[in-house]
Amino acid sequence: MTSSAINAQYTADAQYLLRRVYGYAAFRDHQADIIQHVIAGGDAFVLMPTGGGKSLCYQLPAMLRPGVGIVISPLIALMQDQVTALNALGVKAAMLNSSLTGPQRQTVKAQLRAGALDLLYMAPERLMLEDTLDMLADCPLALFAIDEAHCVSQWGHDFRPEYLQLSALHERFPEVPRIALTATADTPTRREIVERLNLQDARTFVSGFDRPNIRYRIVCKESPRQQLYRFITEEHPGDAGIVYCLSRKKTEEIARWLQGKGLTALPYHAGLDARTREQHQERFLREDGVIIVATIGFGMGIDKPDVRFVAHLDLPKSIEAYYQETGRAGRDGLPADAWMVYGLADVAIHRQLIENSEADALHKRLEHQKLTALLGLCETAACRRQVLLQYFSDALPAPCGNCDTCLTPVETWDGTLVARKALYVIRQTKQLFGVGHLTDILRGTDTEKVRKFRHQQLSAFGNGQELSEREWASVFRQLVATGLLAVDMEQHGSLKLTPESLQILQNARSISLRKDPLPARSTPGASRKKAPRLAQTTAARLGNNRAASDLFELLRVTRRELAALHSVPPYVIFHDKTLLEMAELRPLSREQLRGITGVGERKLEEYGDAFLEVIDRYVRG
Ligand code: ADP
Ligand code: ZN
Repeated sequence: MTSSAINAQYTADAQYLLRRVYGYAAFRDHQADIIQHVIAGGDAFVLMPTGGGKSLCYQLPAMLRPGVGIVISPLIALMQDQVTALNALGVKAAMLNSSLTGPQRQTVKAQLRAGALDLLYMAPERLMLEDTLDMLADCPLALFAIDEAHCVSQWGHDFRPEYLQLSALHERFPEVPRIALTATADTPTRREIVERLNLQDARTFVSGFDRPNIRYRIVCKESPRQQLYRFITEEHPGDAGIVYCLSRKKTEEIARWLQGKGLTALPYHAGLDARTREQHQERFLREDGVIIVATIGFGMGIDKPDVRFVAHLDLPKSIEAYYQETGRAGRDGLPADAWMVYGLADVAIHRQLIENSEADALHKRLEHQKLTALLGLCETAACRRQVLLQYFSDALPAPCGNCDTCLTPVETWDGTLVARKALYVIRQTKQLFGVGHLTDILRGTDTEKVRKFRHQQLSAFGNGQELSEREWASVFRQLVATGLLAVDMEQHGSLKLTPESLQILQNARSISLRKDPLPARSTPGASRKKAPRLAQTTAARLGNNRAASDLFELLRVTRRELAALHSVPPYVIFHDKTLLEMAELRPLSREQLRGITGVGERKLEEYGDAFLEVIDRYVRG
């Protein structure tokens, strides 16, 4: 056969398995090319956003090439998830790690030797043990897949020293194709991955980094708990979500507070004992509608596809971190929200954290720059998605229409004059005071503190009455965010001038400020309106199709029961997307059910009748 005929054959085989095993109709953008390239024995470096469909890119070649595909994965939870999902699809997959008992490990090794596995997952440190390498040398190997490849990068957020050893794989197994995959978008990290994994000759496949189903929203911090509560109950009742906080203590407080309000919320942070952490994670994965309140450590290694919202009560430290954390929402491609409250104190805390860290001067400067870029995102009046993607050099030509600034355009105004007033008063009071007192002076408010320092005698006193207290807070926050002011945490948050301040004071530059939208208050009428019972996505997708919504709920119950019966998370049975399609199309036979996205042969066999019965009963009324 010619090479193009061979390639066509590979594609046809892969297409067949895609349909039969996974129940999917077509490949997404680069998937077919990647799969064809790896089946033909080529090395590949795959950059694809979270939820883009990276797993198929090595799973299908592993099934189609002779031998077993070795998947290197940094976390047991991640391996566990994937192996469970693959087994449910009828794929012969297993893992080797410390969570197995001795006899279980022996079983896996026997399966490996017997050639009974298509995929074997393990951590890099286990793979690189001499014993393991010897064992693998005796088996035909389909490929090495290096998942979460950014773990090899020191600059990334998930550096794992064990990943460095993987550079030796190529010398040891020169004829086995390697495919490295990551969702990390920034260029220095990419370069480092290629170097450290010796992938110079690999073909690189880059997909766009946009996550169009995620709606970005960043709002001013006013009363964060109430804001969070309103956001969850009004927009995501019954949905699974993650709430990120900066401190361990705060995750517990917020979780308790949400529980007090009747929501299923659980804390998660490194200070909890392993057993509690595991329990909370399990409940998040297995029950519907659990909210996890976590520090940033939570989420890596969680493949849960139906996380409907990610809420930040505190600012992350960079755009990379923000994108990674928010990226955990909506892997299944259905609508999801990334929601954050942000205020001046967040900036001050982060600046302080950087200053107090052990890092050297160069690193500190880099961290400050990263924070500044994130603040730019917070304060932008432009499309959030454009700012985000621009940061990753993945320009979006037009505003997205699915972020807060697109949906409710932000007005900007010339803030040069008020900025000068603010900086003047800071200079006049010797840079010793914080926002509250400075605002009192500007607004001419007669307080005890004003009298104590005789600040009513300043020329600035009462010189800023054109703005409300809230508006002054917004001005100060924006001046700090843009570096025109600094916050001194050692001195109770007093505001300091910076070298840039001079340009404003000397009238050498102007500044445009955003007009913060008023906080969304639920009108009394709206709050009394009964909250929708259905999870938001369903409501959004099924609209006012009451019948389909009812059927969807029934299908969810069946899924929950099956999941409990088989001890797997509900999404391992079927994703929401599959149930939504069933609710809309109401298949009544196995043949019709086969046409639904996500229904492969094994699942049809295993669960098909249970769902058909529900649909049948529903249709008959
Ligand atoms: P990633 O690892 O890139 O975050 P996954 O491999 O977990 O993404 O895929 C995300 C979701 O998309 C999964 O539910 C997966 O089954 C689904 N998916 C992947 N490829 C396709 C496809 N070609 N058609 C439909 N769904 C797909
Ligand atoms: Zn937008």
